[in-house]
Amino acid sequence: MFNDIESKLNSISEGGSLDRETLAAILSTEDGASKNILYRYADKTRAAHMGDGITLRGIVEFSNVCAGTCVYCGLNRYNTKLKRYDLESERILASVAELAAHKIKTVVLQSGENHTFDGIWFGELISEIKDKFGIRITLSVGEKPYDVIKHWKDKGADRYLLKIETSNKNFYDYLHPGMSFENRLRTLKDLKELGYQVGSGIIVGLFGQTTKMLADDIIFLKENDFDMVAIGPFIPHVNTDCAGHRAGSAEMTLKTLALARVVTKNAHMPSTTALGVIDSETKIKALSSGANVIMVNFTPERVKDLYSIYDGKSAGSGKFSNYSMEKMAAGIKRHIDYSEGDSLKAPGVERVDTIVKR
Ligand code: SAM
Repeated sequence: MFNDIESKLNSISEGGSLDRETLAAILSTEDGASKNILYRYADKTRAAHMGDGITLRGIVEFSNVCAGTCVYCGLNRYNTKLKRYDLESERILASVAELAAHKIKTVVLQSGENHTFDGIWFGELISEIKDKFGIRITLSVGEKPYDVIKHWKDKGADRYLLKIETSNKNFYDYLHPGMSFENRLRTLKDLKELGYQVGSGIIVGLFGQTTKMLADDIIFLKENDFDMVAIGPFIPHVNTDCAGHRAGSAEMTLKTLALARVVTKNAHMPSTTALGVIDSETKIKALSSGANVIMVNFTPERVKDLYSIYDGKSAGSGKFSNYSMEKMAAGIKRHIDYSEGDSLKAPGVERVDTIVKR
């Protein structure tokens, strides 16, 4: 058993210094009892800071056009086999109406690194969604200039997801030829400065990644105090240079997620769609190992398969049902939280454990 994992987790949880060797050793543990201690510890941390609700976000993947070079991603610009699409406002609004009708109060508008869509059009869409549905709007459209993301914030966008993917600059450069690690960091800084609730995250199991790199990633996520943290496994895509690579392991993803929960405490953390693709049981287990969010896909059926980030992505993502979701939550002694699911890091927001103690 990894030597005294519980006291190490206590020390991390109490704000002791975060050293990469200790984090990497925890991630490397293969021992079943130690892993269970880690998962239970993360679950308790999640309960204390986030409560027992599972928050839902509805995602609409409105365009797969992408100028990015991410070697692992099926949307990358070199994948000429992929038919590209852009949804029109009316179709996006219809998907938003559908998720709102299911009581979901956050829409995530996601696309590739699409530099062809008009920022003014997108701003109008953001205000229309706000006016019609009054729900939270999260953007996940990649790196954009300061003025553009400011305009969207002014139009009513609330949150922004931009995963760092890896916090190791050399590894980032290797995975994203011609893209800029510094620009990604700069965008994350701009988003915070503009008052967005900001989410970031990493991919686990990329070729060449070590547990020490993952430990550094966890430290990066903590130091930046992100409102949302997404940790999902790498899954290969047949039309990329990573075709044939082994997928990230469900277990390493779970350990990384659990440790990130202990370290970041009150960030919203999804049980990612990618985790469900490699193992549907692990997707549920993630909810008992630190995760408190589920992303539900509302991309129109006719283009869903074209949002092809990795192989098997839309398999099993059938029609959403509140009943099935609530039943799943009850099965793990949790419930679906139909609130907006705002950041718990925002000034003035009380932590759940403080509220519960009264
Ligand atoms: N273009 C936006 C961006 O870069 O933030 C959002 C779209 S991008 C396709 C969304 C996420 O997909 C990325 O942040 C990345 O983590 C994930 N992704 C892409 N390819 C993947 C793969 N093969 N396995 C797992 N996750 C992948």
